[in-house]
Amino acid sequence: MADYIYTMEIRLTPDQLKGVNLVQDVARAAGMTLYLTGGAIRDIISGFTIRDLDFTVQGNPLKLQKELERAGAQAVGLDEDVRTLFLVLPGNVRAEIGMAHTEHYEKAGKPPLIAPASIQEDLRRRDFTVNAMALSLNEGSRGLLLDPFNGVADIEAKLIRILHNYSFVEDPSRLIRATRFAARFHWPLEERTQQRYDSAKENNYIDHISRSAVGHEIAQMAHEDDPLNVVRALEKEGWLKVLHSHWTAAKVDTNGLSQLMKTRQQMVDLGYAPDPSPAVMYFLTAHLPEKDISDLRRQMPRKDLVEAWRDIEVRAKELAKRLTGKEAATPSRTWQLLSSARPELILFLAVTARQQAVALKVKNFLTKWRQVQQRIPLPEMTELLITPQLPEYPKIARDVFMLLLDGKLRSHTETFKFLKPFAPPPPPPPPPPKRGRGTKSAAASMASPSAPATGKKTDAAKGKGKAAALAPTVAPPAPVKIAPKPGVKAKPAKVEHKPAKPVTRPANKPAGKHHARKTPAKKGKSKKKR
Ligand code: ATP
Ligand code: MG
Repeated sequence: MADYIYTMEIRLTPDQLKGVNLVQDVARAAGMTLYLTGGAIRDIISGFTIRDLDFTVQGNPLKLQKELERAGAQAVGLDEDVRTLFLVLPGNVRAEIGMAHTEHYEKAGKPPLIAPASIQEDLRRRDFTVNAMALSLNEGSRGLLLDPFNGVADIEAKLIRILHNYSFVEDPSRLIRATRFAARFHWPLEERTQQRYDSAKENNYIDHISRSAVGHEIAQMAHEDDPLNVVRALEKEGWLKVLHSHWTAAKVDTNGLSQLMKTRQQMVDLGYAPDPSPAVMYFLTAHLPEKDISDLRRQMPRKDLVEAWRDIEVRAKELAKRLTGKEAATPSRTWQLLSSARPELILFLAVTARQQAVALKVKNFLTKWRQVQQRIPLPEMTELLITPQLPEYPKIARDVFMLLLDGKLRSHTETFKFLKPFAPPPPPPPPPPKRGRGTKSAAASMASPSAPATGKKTDAAKGKGKAAALAPTVAPPAPVKIAPKPGVKAKPAKVEHKPAKPVTRPANKPAGKHHARKTPAKKGKSKKKR
């Protein structure tokens, strides 16, 4: 049997996984039965990007709101009719928690009667087989997949199939959804589904679509990975004008949109996770008049997306202004400014910046300046024992990076001059040996002839020339062992491998002490022999 918990754990992003655990903990504490459902399950099994987390509880999810917020979730919207709570979980994870319910359609095209139900009943009112699965997150059955319509088989067959013959009549927004999924996954409609689809289209069932379904479908466009492809498919089927009568593919800024998606991928590759949805909406509606845009926004259920879309231009302009001011006078300051900016704004600015200086700074931030990180003088730092084991290492490495960005630390000498004050003091000498009988002579005989305890300074230690003064002490008297931090693989200190050379030994460290420590053992040995 497939291990769906394992599949879920490896397919979700770390933040999504934390989100699942967060909701699971809150639901458990409240004694509510929880399932991961809908597109999340479909995408986990099929291998497509998991865009959001759809949860279903048996009971009223609004009862969980306070505890969810206490655990770090943000409630950003609510659908009163079906008791669905829209959330943003930590790490910008989109989620919704719905109440398991039935929908009873008394008259085609009229809103259904909603009644709380079990998860099994709830799955029966879903749109397509591939979306009608639920994964238990409950103690005792965690990992159990409920798949009453064999959605897994349709995922394998790559087919979009309705659950019953009246699906499109009952809720015509499923026509739009079918087109959207077909365009997104490049999966065809199953044969009978296609027949029902064609007949529904011919009979203009779409005229009965509810306002809330329109709002939901408008918002879904913002999260498509290839929105232009979906817009074109919707337009071809006549659904785009259902979402708004003036919306056509010609109203889309296609260049902006494709640039946006490319830059987004570039940022993802660099480890950022910008949410492109506000910018996607901006470009999808770029040539629509403000009034039409307001109409679209009014219908969307998630107000967080509406606000982010409304504000993106102004916020990006503010950032652009800061990028031309004193705050970004040098590459290092620009780096700091952009590092603290929201990735969404950087993404938007990367595509829309008109001023050359701004565009170049954003471009450098995403490309050229990153390569400077590779010039951090690691050998020199290791030589000076400035290693990741030092608590202040991250700050030193960051300061070095900032200086490099600004074109400083150009020579070896400059680098050492900067780094030297941060070098940790040499390790303390080992404790003096216990004086016992014969120790003195044994110590004397053990002292290396190449390491006389003269107390004289070596050339390097005396500081002959600037370079010599900056040269690190390469051979301390004993091997240095720095306890590694848990989980950090300690680099062997360079000094461990070098034999003690008299010329580089610091004058204040008496030579041969570590040899002398061995004396009693040797003494014992020789006694035995005798
Ligand atoms: P996406 O990847 O676009 O989020 P999704 O299938 O998760 O795809 P949502 O709009 O997030 O789509 O809806 C979540 C789930 O709710 C769906 O998978 C489906 O089970 C159910 N659902 C949504 N809209 C409808 C509808 N109009 N009719 C029946 N079920 C629906
Ligand atoms: Mg979804």
